[in-house]
Amino acid sequence: MLDDLKDNNRAWAQRKVAIDPGFFRRLEGQQAPKYLWIGCSDSRVPANDIVGLDPGELFVHRNVANLAPPQDANYLSVLQFAVDVIKVEHVLVVGHYGCGGVAAAVDGQRRGLVDHWLHPIRETQNEHREELDALDGPKARWDRLVELNVQRQVRNVASDVFVQDAWARGQPLCVHGWVYSLANGLVNDLGVSVAGPDEVAGPG
Ligand code: ZN
Repeated sequence: MLDDLKDNNRAWAQRKVAIDPGFFRRLEGQQAPKYLWIGCSDSRVPANDIVGLDPGELFVHRNVANLAPPQDANYLSVLQFAVDVIKVEHVLVVGHYGCGGVAAAVDGQRRGLVDHWLHPIRETQNEHREELDALDGPKARWDRLVELNVQRQVRNVASDVFVQDAWARGQPLCVHGWVYSLANGLVNDLGVSVAGPDEVAGPG
């Protein structure tokens, strides 16, 4: 079973060691990534590949539609560990255009548990109803909702107590909002970065 994956794994490990014999030994000793990636589970958005980072360089949390819900113990545990223990310098909230999770949040169909998970996206849609309705066509509205969702999650991260405490003790930490394009592989920086408690914007 899954022999092709195991073959791939062996070939990959050999390639790594061929280039850098100490690669795995170093990583075994410690991980010290500078970045936390909060992204979508979508198989087309592989975190490390997109930004050209090796194992050990990116701390990763992925879930459906890249949410950072303040009550989610999984996300919060990752965030606290990344901020308090690893002391990452950047948190990247990375959505992607064409996100099925974002579409599923607002298409009115029932899917089960995931409908509850996606609830924050319906709230974001409601908060920006006017702007979204003014856009031309469903594709433009979908793209914009993807961006608004990222913006909202950046605010969730930036207003979190772990992040606020890190800033209060002078720890350098910046939260960024990006959207990845499946069509061309490029990241769009939404320009909503937050690097301190004074920059946490209001509703928007
Ligand atoms: Zn997605």
